[in-house]
Amino acid sequence: MALDKVLKFGGAALADGPGVERCAQLVLRYGGERPVVVVSAHHGVTDLLDTIARSAADGILEGDRVRIRHRTILRQLGLDPELLDRHFTELFSLLAGIKTRGRIEPRERDLVLSFGERMSARVVAQTLRKLGALATPVDAFDLGLLSDSNHGAARPLPESRARVRRAIGEVPGIPVVTGFLAQDRNGNLTTLGRNGSDLTAALMAEAIGAGELQLWKAVGGIMTADPKIEPEARVVENLGFAEAAEFAFHGAQVLYGAALAPAQRANVTVRLLDVNDPEAAGTILATTTRGGGLVGIAVRRRVVRIALEIAVPEERAERTVELFQAFARHGLEPGPIASAAEQLSVYVSETAAISALLSDFGARARSTSELALVALIGRGNGFDDGLAARALALCAAEAIEVVDAFVGTRATSQVLVVAATDAERTVRALHAGLFRQVALR
Ligand code: ASP
Ligand code: MG
Repeated sequence: MALDKVLKFGGAALADGPGVERCAQLVLRYGGERPVVVVSAHHGVTDLLDTIARSAADGILEGDRVRIRHRTILRQLGLDPELLDRHFTELFSLLAGIKTRGRIEPRERDLVLSFGERMSARVVAQTLRKLGALATPVDAFDLGLLSDSNHGAARPLPESRARVRRAIGEVPGIPVVTGFLAQDRNGNLTTLGRNGSDLTAALMAEAIGAGELQLWKAVGGIMTADPKIEPEARVVENLGFAEAAEFAFHGAQVLYGAALAPAQRANVTVRLLDVNDPEAAGTILATTTRGGGLVGIAVRRRVVRIALEIAVPEERAERTVELFQAFARHGLEPGPIASAAEQLSVYVSETAAISALLSDFGARARSTSELALVALIGRGNGFDDGLAARALALCAAEAIEVVDAFVGTRATSQVLVVAATDAERTVRALHAGLFRQVALR
């Protein structure tokens, strides 16, 4: 029986026993004849593993917290309490080694983090078996998912596709595959970046030539705004890959941006669905979209502006190269870029790497923190005339200072820079003022 659908379940959807049970039911109901399932770690487990890895390096062994968490889930599901004992033993000895050495290498950190998905795959597969389905837990690295050795943010290698396609066909029943994890050519486990399970799911879909990729989340679909900020926000039912990428770039959490490329390459229909409301349409991603105009608002908080002084105009090109080489060196991803006569400014999400970058430039570079980027995302590149002007007027009416703006009628997004403390107010003002007149198709 051909594998045709990939169903991925996020950590929040798998948060506890009842959550796991619900996801297993969804597999049986929406997975067709023989789906591939991809899972994240149970909610909060990746963070917990990260914490205990650090504690181990500081001389404290806290592995029991992970055991208690998973034993609780096993008990809630009525599964064998010893199902994960082999994993606990392996994890504990790894932590003991870290404690002895008193420090943790990136390679070891990935190994510690891998336990989250390795264990949730066992739990989900066993739950499916209890419901009468033949399911087999599989570690993605055993399927041949290869990546580079960039621990913590590894990139999958193209030859994985053929290897995975071959191996997954051999798995009995429904393969339940670990998200987030791969292996480098030296056999070390790697992780694909936080929230990387969406990427694993897209790679699986590409490898098997799936017709459909279902990303099941606790919050389904891409919304016109973050519903925690704007209660009136609603699901965007149809979205092009380009707009989805723009949403992800501007900080929308529902979708891991890197997952879009393999999905688009494979020409698979991607559906973002809600585990708590499975019959709701959710968001469907398609290669082409109809119509134009505004689709939603994304917000990126904790943004820093880095400004590099350009004292001599003839040095502009050199200084620009220098700055972006430093970005690459420090693993920083540049956001919007603005160039003025005497300085070049780049907006970037706040991370620890920024201070390292700044120290490379000494007094020539300055930073301004506590900013936020509020992005209006458009379909196609069709914003109607005057949208940016209306957005700016709405901010002015609320006395919100727009520190900087990247706008234009042919852009795929209109980006306003505001103080971080104004971010939520800005989202609400723009949503109220711009979405009331907009009919979503
Ligand atoms: N468990 C990983 C994380 O929390 C990967 C994922 O959830 O997609 O980031
Ligand atoms: Mg997650």
